[in-house]
Formats: sequence, C-alpha cells, structure tokens
Amino acid sequence: MRSPLPRIVIVGAGFAGLQAARHLRPAAAEVVLIDAQSHHAFIPLVYQVATALLPPQRVRFSLARLAHQQANLQVRQSTVVTVDLAQKCLRLSDGELPYDYLVLATGSRPELSQLPGAEVAALPLAGLADAIALRNQILNCWQQAAQEPDPEQRQRLLTVAIVGGGPTGVELVGGLQELWQGTLQRRYPSLRRERLRLVLLQAGDRLLARWPEALSRYTAQHLSRLGIEVRCQARVAAIGPQRVELATGEAIAAATIVWTGGLVANAPATQPEITTLSSGQWPVEPSLQLADHPEVYAVGDLAAVKDQESLPNVAPVAMQMGSAAAANLQRQLRGRSPQPFHYYDKGRAAIIARYAGLVKTERLQLQGWLGWLLWLLIHVGYLPGWRNQLAVLGAWLGDLVGRPRSLQRLDPQPYRRPRSATIEAMIPDQ
Ligand SMILES: Cc1cc2nc3c(=O)[nH]c(=O)nc-3n(C[C@H](O)[C@H](O)[C@H](O)COP(=O)(O)OP(=O)(O)OC[C@H]3O[C@@H](n4cnc5c(N)ncnc54)[C@H](O)[C@@H]3O)c2cc1C
Repeated sequence: MRSPLPRIVIVGAGFAGLQAARHLRPAAAEVVLIDAQSHHAFIPLVYQVATALLPPQRVRFSLARLAHQQANLQVRQSTVVTVDLAQKCLRLSDGELPYDYLVLATGSRPELSQLPGAEVAALPLAGLADAIALRNQILNCWQQAAQEPDPEQRQRLLTVAIVGGGPTGVELVGGLQELWQGTLQRRYPSLRRERLRLVLLQAGDRLLARWPEALSRYTAQHLSRLGIEVRCQARVAAIGPQRVELATGEAIAAATIVWTGGLVANAPATQPEITTLSSGQWPVEPSLQLADHPEVYAVGDLAAVKDQESLPNVAPVAMQMGSAAAANLQRQLRGRSPQPFHYYDKGRAAIIARYAGLVKTERLQLQGWLGWLLWLLIHVGYLPGWRNQLAVLGAWLGDLVGRPRSLQRLDPQPYRRPRSATIEAMIPDQ
C-alpha cells in the first residue's frame, strides 16, 4: 500500500543521486532511489581497476547498505526507460512507478559515434564494466605477446593507444606504465627485453586543457620521463581494427585502443519530449528544476544550469547539485520557494603516476609528491564505506612495497551500466 507521505523518486545512484538521497534523510517523505545497478560506483578510481591495482568490489558501495542506514529510504534496482512527465510516472524495465517529485541523476556516457570506427574498435573507460573489459584486454594482449614469435605482431600486442589527454587519459597511461613495470615484467620474464609502447593522443596543443599551463607542462614532462609517448596536436581521424589513423595520415598499430574523449549526457526518454542541448544535457532553471515541471529536478552530469557559466562534469559539481536539489525539495515540501544553486569550487586534483600528482585550488597549485599524497587522501576520504577505505589504503600500500597485482580475468557483466541508446530494448512486453 502506498504511504500517505509524498513520494520523491531519485533516478541514478551516482555522486549526485546518492548525495540527494542522503540529504533527504530528515524529509517527511517516502524517498525511493532507483538505479540499474545494485551499487554506487566510485568512478574516479575505476582506472585503478583497469590497471589491476584494485578489485572492482572496492570501488563500489552497496545501495542496500545505504537503505539500511536511512529509515525513509527504499532502494530499487531497475532501469528507467521513459519518464512520463505528464502523468508523473516512470516506466521501468520491470513495471511503473508514480512519483510526486523526481530527481534525475543519470550521469553521462561515452560518445564514440562521432569518430569513424570507434564504436567497434575502441574501448571506452567510463564505468566499472569498461574498466574490467579494458583490464582483461590488456592482460590478454600482454600474455599473448609473451608467446608471440613475430616481432611486428608482438609490438602491436604491446602497444596501447589512448585517445584523449584529459585527466582520465593521463591517469590511465601512468597506471598502465606502473602495471607493466611492477607486475607484468615479473610475471612474463620473456617480455623483459620488450618495449611497451604507450601512446597518449591529444587533439589540442597541451594535455589537461582545463588546467593551468604549468601543470600541463609538468604532466607532459613527467609522462615522457616514464617513457610514454605524449602526442599533442594529434587529431584522430578514424579508428580501425588494431590501428589509429591520425588526421595527418599517420597510422599507429595498436592492439588496444582506449577512448577517453568526449561524454554526452545519459538522459532517459521523456513524454512529452524535452529539448536537450547538443551535449545531451537537460537545461534546468537556477533552482535545478525543469522549466515547466517544478516537481522535477535534474542534477549532476545530466544538468546544465541556464544562464550560468557551464560547469565541468566532475564529482564535486554533481554532489553539490544533489544536496542543493534535496534542500530545495525540502523547501517545496514546507511550501517555501526553491533557491538558486551556486557551485563552490574547492579545487581539483589529478594523479599522473606514483609520487606525481596535481592539486589546484584558488590559492594553491601543487605538483609532485605532495600533490600525489593529497590526491590519495582526498580520494580515500570521499570513497564511501570504511571497509572500502581500509582495503584501498591496504592495496595502495601493498603496491608501494612491491606486492604483485592480481592478474585474474574478471567478468564485466554484473557492472554494466544502462546507456540511453540501448534502453529501448528493455521495454517490457505490454
Ligand atoms: C573515467 C572517469 C574518471 C573520472 N574521474 C573523476 C575524478 O577524478 N574527479 C572528479 O571529480 N570527477 C571525475 N569524473 C567525473 C565524475 O565521475 C562525474 O562527473 C560524476 O560521476 C557525475 O555524477 P552523476 O551522479 O551525475 O552521474 P554518475 O556518477 O555517472 O551516476 C549515474 C547513475 O545513474 C544510473 N543510471 C543511468 N541511467 C539510468 C537509467 N535509465 N535507469 C536507472 N539508472 C540509471 C547509473 O547506473 C549510475 O549509477 C570521472 C569520470 C570518468 C568517466
């Protein structure tokens, strides 16, 4: 039987949705958190799953545990197929769910369709399933290389081309170099004399384009010192089977091609259809509500606030939007007006490799080991669940003292995230 309290449904248990759910703890409402997954995935650490440093279960947090900690919260594992804005009802992969208020926080997904061949031949890195698929691919290639007699084919197996020189590309390429040096060469002695070729391809004239130039320069120099080929102004024109074609006509033979380039918002279909931006994002009012639907909020990567400077798609923006939407909902429940959202930029952090990190705040700019240490502390601090925090600290310490990483192949299926383009196939038979 339906509770007499108003029902707030949150779709997406990423950074924004999780924060909204937590901040609705004091609300006199029935809060339902829906996600296609049974867990929250801590995306900033997925590259460490791809590089075999962390097992996937350490960068996720069970939603059932969250519901256990919050009396007014229920969680439901399901995929939202359509949002019926007129009827205030969600069509799910396994039924329907009416709502009084709705918070949409479905995040973003990799956009590979603009680059010829990328959908077939490149691996994205946007979630846990992608990270596991990439880890399996790399471990398989390097294992095959250890037995491959043909030098040309061996070099192809030992080449990874990473498209996109933003923080994800930088973190991944540094992590792969450590995996190779720390574990792979020990595991396959026949590879000791071989050269791992890691190529980082950036269309613009510098890595980390949104960061200060001095930090971009430091990053490129550090990666080059590690033996990584950093190629700026290298626009990729097409991706074929085991080859990257640059706009200049040059081709790079690589058994593994990773796409860390653009993302688009992962918006579910709506009825009636709403007009999205070219990024796929939903334009929202400064209060984070939809213009014609004050009962609907969009937050996180999905949302673009009208008349405000565009905000980066990062976890702090998503978290602050999630808590702002929760505060506005509580105002609405008390008959008060929602307030505009303002982002407070605390700064950003990225890691290049061991002992090399970057931190940038309004007052502070750090590079090197201090940046690395701060990056570690920030990420372990934000990782949900103390068991995860302890296990991750243990894994990092073990790696620093030379403990070999696990090279076990893993199954990505349980971690697959819904992508709006494929959701239609999930509509239940009527
Ligand atoms: C590889 C990578 C590394 C990153 N590293 C950093 C970093 O170091 N620092 C940083 O600040 N930011 C980082 N980001 C960006 C950051 O992860 C995102 O900005 C943030 O996750 C956005 O949060 P969100 O809540 O909007 O969406 P997400 O965290 O993506 O969550 C969306 C949720 O919605 C669910 N969902 C989607 N569609 C449906 C549906 N139809 N039905 C049901 N559930 C659905 C998904 O399963 C998912 O759980 C990184 C991003 C990537 C891809």
